[in-house]
Amino acid sequence: MTDLLQIGGITEWMRERLSPVFNIHQLDDFDAESITHIVTNGHDGVPHDLMTSLSNLRMISVYGVGYDAVDANAAAERGIVVTHTPNVLNNEVATTAVLLMLSCYRELVRDDEYVRSGRWEVEGNAPLTRSADNQKIGILGLGRIGQAIVDKLEPWAPEISYHTRSQKDVPYRYFDNLVEMAEHVDVLICITPGGPSTNKLVNAEVLRALGAGGTLINVSRGSVVDETALINALQNDELGWAGLDVFEDEPRVPKALRELSNVVLLPHAGSATIETRSAMGDLTVDNLLQHLKDGSVITAVPECRDL
Ligand code: NDP
Repeated sequence: MTDLLQIGGITEWMRERLSPVFNIHQLDDFDAESITHIVTNGHDGVPHDLMTSLSNLRMISVYGVGYDAVDANAAAERGIVVTHTPNVLNNEVATTAVLLMLSCYRELVRDDEYVRSGRWEVEGNAPLTRSADNQKIGILGLGRIGQAIVDKLEPWAPEISYHTRSQKDVPYRYFDNLVEMAEHVDVLICITPGGPSTNKLVNAEVLRALGAGGTLINVSRGSVVDETALINALQNDELGWAGLDVFEDEPRVPKALRELSNVVLLPHAGSATIETRSAMGDLTVDNLLQHLKDGSVITAVPECRDL
């Protein structure tokens, strides 16, 4: 049996598939010398000190597509292959982004409360909301999920723009400057990876450019948006609405943000359906089993593809 270290939660089905071939260890019960494989998730990752203390570590399988909580360059240098779960969650995360955008435009949370609280009966019809049709939408990060978001938005007939570091071969307007795109659009949807290169990319200047009529949707990582600047902008009507699935210090969400009425908040649930988590779990396990069998993997992260 091979020794596998589990960091964070896995599903019962993943455990069932892994148990016949791996001894699964928890963080409070493992021998550093014997661990060759790790299963973790995009939030917990692998602390750098832990990675360097495991001299026989050969593979890290991340249960998620975002792997900013694992130092993939350091892993590659040590010959450790890191895998993740691209593509199988594109549609689900795209649905979450569209859901947040529509909830902001049509005030889903406010109006739900309007009915539940009995205000409808007492005060009459709720105030009008805004139409989500024909909006200018800017995608920050037009990768696998960004494209799935654009595809899902089609029935609302948006005008799509995007900002990435390199221009893509797509029929949408490219902005090489994020502030300029934010000035142009009604909605900014963030779906880049996390990590140092995107840290606080959406800062006070970007939020001001998006403006009082603008909506920010973040389904990427909390680190991509300057949360303090976001709260200030929402409190001072410099930004209209925000739909957020991710936060700087999860699961802690600032009280100031929770008290705002012009936000819709989700508990990092972008891919969190039974069906999609099942597909992600299978790919996470398939990578581990294949590595055990012949040393190859199915979905290595780009930093580890040459190993
Ligand atoms: P991809 O690698 O397919 O796409 C990433 C996109 O971001 C690319 O278009 C890339 O283009 C762009 N990008 C990267 N760095 C920058 C930068 N510094 N500035 C501007 N654009 C940048 O990734 P996926 O679409 O598969 O996933 C994206 C992210 O979504 C994940 O890494 C994860 O953080 C997040 N996610 C969140 C989930 C949730 O539950 N909320 C669930 C799943 C994923 P270019 O390289 O040209 O810049």
